Amino acid sequence: MGATIIDGKAFAAKVREKVATHVARLVDEHGITPGLAVVLVGEDPASQVYVRSKGKATTEAGMKSVEHRLDPSTSEADLLALIRDLNADETIHGILVQLPLPKHLDEDLVINSIDPAKDVDGFHISNVGLLGTGQKSMVPCTPLGCLMMLREHLGSLSGLNAVVIGRSNIVGKPMAQLLLGDSCTVTIAHSRTKDLPGVVRGADIVVAAVGRPEMVPGDWIKPGATVIDVGINRVDGDAGKTRLVGDCYYASCEKVAGAITPVPGGVGPMTIACLLANTVTACCRSHGLAEPE
Ligand code: NDP
Repeated sequence: MGATIIDGKAFAAKVREKVATHVARLVDEHGITPGLAVVLVGEDPASQVYVRSKGKATTEAGMKSVEHRLDPSTSEADLLALIRDLNADETIHGILVQLPLPKHLDEDLVINSIDPAKDVDGFHISNVGLLGTGQKSMVPCTPLGCLMMLREHLGSLSGLNAVVIGRSNIVGKPMAQLLLGDSCTVTIAHSRTKDLPGVVRGADIVVAAVGRPEMVPGDWIKPGATVIDVGINRVDGDAGKTRLVGDCYYASCEKVAGAITPVPGGVGPMTIACLLANTVTACCRSHGLAEPE
């Protein structure tokens, strides 16, 4: 019997519906429209696609979407000035600077110049610290989406062994913090981990965030484990076309796992849904209103 497929697309649609309902209530009852500003510096094709789909989803949820597309040679001073303006703009509740930035810009400096209350990506050092100490924060969208799917599928995560493969600031580390917050026993694996297959075999929950196509095979997976595949890798497909694959080798993992997220259609759609949810949360907090659940 194959694994249950965790349908991130369907789950994300439900989250987006709830967001839209909350937005409609904010507009009707309080005359407030949540606003999200997305800043893109440069012409990276993947980033352009992400920014476009974020803008579309924001508008579809009834929110205000503002896009700032800046020249690749934009100076740090100009970018920081734009962020200052957005921080001061009362119609903007969420600010997202699309990463990666061109090499001449200091990513940490830029991210840390965003008002933490508007930092809907949850990458500002204040939000990282709040998350790490178990306080109310803005939670990074991709790990948040993964956690929501795990809770939906497994109920309580308490006491489960979780292995996160990858230790990036945007996925691996915050994912580990969230799992710890839900009382998992957490291992963070990375490129220097010894006996990665053995480490993964001990996991009830595997979150793969590596960026290596189909790296995790089914025989690393403990029978019945829940597998969340964050990876998005474009590889050569049939007839000169390309196709998207995850960090897990789906065909073999699916035979052993209890449940698994597909790529595409798993984590990706949840990331955007969580961005919308974070924007509404930021808006509610800034106005002292009840946050969505
Ligand atoms: P990074 O490149 O920042 O981090 C990758 C991590 O994987 C690093 O910690 C690295 O270890 C580790 N790693 C690399 N090779 C190995 C290996 N052979 N064995 C064990 N660990 C290894 O990537 P991101 O975290 O930004 O992204 C990871 C993946 O998730 C990518 O495919 C990305 O496209 C995808 N992604 C998907 C999103 C979505 O919405 N679905 C959102 C964000 C990312 P070390 O630190 O030692 O170098």
